[in-house]
Amino acid sequence: MWAFIILAVDVIVLYMIVPFALTRILGWGVHSEVGAEKEIAFTFDDGPDPCYTPELLDLLKEHGIKATFFVLGKKAQQYPELIERMHREGHQIGIHNYTHTPNWIQFPWTNRRKQVDRTADIVERITGERPIFYRPPWGLLNLGDFFLLRESYRIVLWSVMVGDWKASLSAEQLKDALIKKIKPGSIIVLHDSGDTPWADEEAPLNMITGLEEVLKEMDKKGLKCLRIDELLNKEVNYSREARSRVKHRGQIDL
Ligand SMILES: [Zn+2]
Repeated sequence: MWAFIILAVDVIVLYMIVPFALTRILGWGVHSEVGAEKEIAFTFDDGPDPCYTPELLDLLKEHGIKATFFVLGKKAQQYPELIERMHREGHQIGIHNYTHTPNWIQFPWTNRRKQVDRTADIVERITGERPIFYRPPWGLLNLGDFFLLRESYRIVLWSVMVGDWKASLSAEQLKDALIKKIKPGSIIVLHDSGDTPWADEEAPLNMITGLEEVLKEMDKKGLKCLRIDELLNKEVNYSREARSRVKHRGQIDL
């Protein structure tokens, strides 16, 4: 009995807790935040949703903003016209599994084939472009994901999350929380669907209302909203510039 308990604890620690600590605490092997001077990235998970995604796309269009959508393959299959619209309007499409199943309860090879690759195939069939960015549901990776997923996908988590999946968070509270937390280089996670476990169906309504005010504020602050690929490119340039600035001052030769 004790041997079984010890074995179970070891498996949990190795399979779940170690990757959690590496990615969520140390940020190893994932992108959660980047070095940037005045750029940020908005990302939207759990869609596409026939009710909220079109409304969100209208808002982004109105403000001339490009974002990244981490979509569920099953919903992409159901609403290909929304995936097509995201692509046509210049947004980036990433993968958030085929269904909203946590990687902790799946084998890595099953997860890769049945969730991630399957969703990439669906999106590629619709847009002609294969997604390369991946965000696991709830940001939870298992140990095998490090080896199997990182060969073909870049894993993106977030640095700003405000609990927008709860309808009890008003649009005003959401706006205040986002404005307080967003800084250059932030990757912000929001949700354009409310039908995943523990989410409220009508929560995206508050998110979209609050976001409109946040976008105005970002504009005032001179922060530019980019897609994830663009933000990561900025980081490369930012680091290069920082290195040359330091080198120029002769303080350190990197
Ligand atoms: Zn999700």
